[in-house]
Amino acid sequence: MEVQPAQDITLQDVEDALREPSPSARTSIGHAWYFAEAAHADQKRLSGESFFQHPAHVAHALAYAGADIPTIVSALLHDTIEDADISGEELEAHFGSEVRYIVEGVTKLGEIKYTGDEAYAEQLRRLFLAASGDVRVLLIKLYDRLHNMQTNYMHPQDRAWRKAQETLHIYAPIAEQLCMGEVKRDLEDLAFPYVQPQEYEATKALREAVMAERESAARHAASLLSQTLSARGIQTTRTSVHAKSLYRLHAKLQRTAGVIEQIEDVYSVRFVVKTPVDCYRALGVVHSTMRAVPGRVRDYIAFPKSNGYQGIHTSVYSGAAAVEVQICTEEMDAHSQYGIINTACNTVRWLSDVSDMCAAIMTADPRELMKNIAQDFFGYRICVFTPQGDSVYLPAGSCAVDCGYAIHHVVGDHIAKVRVNGRQVSPTTPLQNGDIVDIVTSASGKPDTAWLEHVKTTRAQLRIRESLCRAL
Ligand code: MN
Repeated sequence: MEVQPAQDITLQDVEDALREPSPSARTSIGHAWYFAEAAHADQKRLSGESFFQHPAHVAHALAYAGADIPTIVSALLHDTIEDADISGEELEAHFGSEVRYIVEGVTKLGEIKYTGDEAYAEQLRRLFLAASGDVRVLLIKLYDRLHNMQTNYMHPQDRAWRKAQETLHIYAPIAEQLCMGEVKRDLEDLAFPYVQPQEYEATKALREAVMAERESAARHAASLLSQTLSARGIQTTRTSVHAKSLYRLHAKLQRTAGVIEQIEDVYSVRFVVKTPVDCYRALGVVHSTMRAVPGRVRDYIAFPKSNGYQGIHTSVYSGAAAVEVQICTEEMDAHSQYGIINTACNTVRWLSDVSDMCAAIMTADPRELMKNIAQDFFGYRICVFTPQGDSVYLPAGSCAVDCGYAIHHVVGDHIAKVRVNGRQVSPTTPLQNGDIVDIVTSASGKPDTAWLEHVKTTRAQLRIRESLCRAL
């Protein structure tokens, strides 16, 4: 495995990475830097480097991703309670209650271990509970894990394997849910060789066989299209060529029976343009310049993915090879990489879902419930719309009853009639991505026991049971 020599991070590096380096931000970060450095002074990592370089790396990566100052400060301090015997009171006296809360959250989360089904559920529960307090705890955990995976090769084989399992089964799905594409991709690719060494080597060999041809096809498409776009008056602020991550490539190969020729985004080209309207104009230019692969357009601007990802994807032929082209705005691009860090509203949606789940956790059979929640959060999701155009995200296979309860329990409890895309259907008919769901309520409408067999969300299940109990 290729091992990159680690570069030492300096306080200057962290300051340089700040989006808004105000004097007060510098003061807080400097204070935390020296405090943590002193706290970890005698500690070394397995590699022999100073332990403090670990929190320094985590804080640097978070600063670079645009995290706020309390998150960066907490990242510097994140191991001081656990590994340096600093107390919560002491942290609060120096850095305030917000930082104490976050660092204690990270500490409480502790070592999340992947050991099997039931334990997995228990770990997820702890994660959610922590996240429902402050999602910044999760951000630090993710970047903590990312740095630990970068140095995973130092551990004995069984420990390295276990860390990699946890990374694939717990951390990467959470990064995806938070729309932190870069982090998810890095976590997966760092874990892959430990978890499935043979598949890793095989996928690498398959990719190497087509790499030269695909990369040059992608570069050709990138240069031809960016010339054409600018000739048509569409300004691109950035053009880049990306290789698909090895782990994702492996996952996709499962669906094409191992035929890499069927995969169009081994390399993809990404154009960043000014406005959403430019995205659609650019799509027109792309399709009139290079031959499109039929049926490959995905409009994630009109239909964002459940984690908020937006952009337009299409595939074109560049010579003999197909290349995926992605078009998005600056804002969409930033969101796809660092998601929740910069998007407060996304955080709010996530948190309201989570706190609902946490309330439920306390009351139901934990094993069954956690399976369902994992499904709700990490399974494939669809996006449907209210007649007013508000989007509602649901697990695949959900019906109007799920949608009703997702909007408000009063809506779910009083469904009288349901129209999907203008046609009246039963409330339990499975919905499709993009459906417009019109739920008509009435005072006399009430939940039906039979619904329980059809609903897919934990929320709907719990609410229906509750209402039925009340009616008894
Ligand atoms: Mn750590």
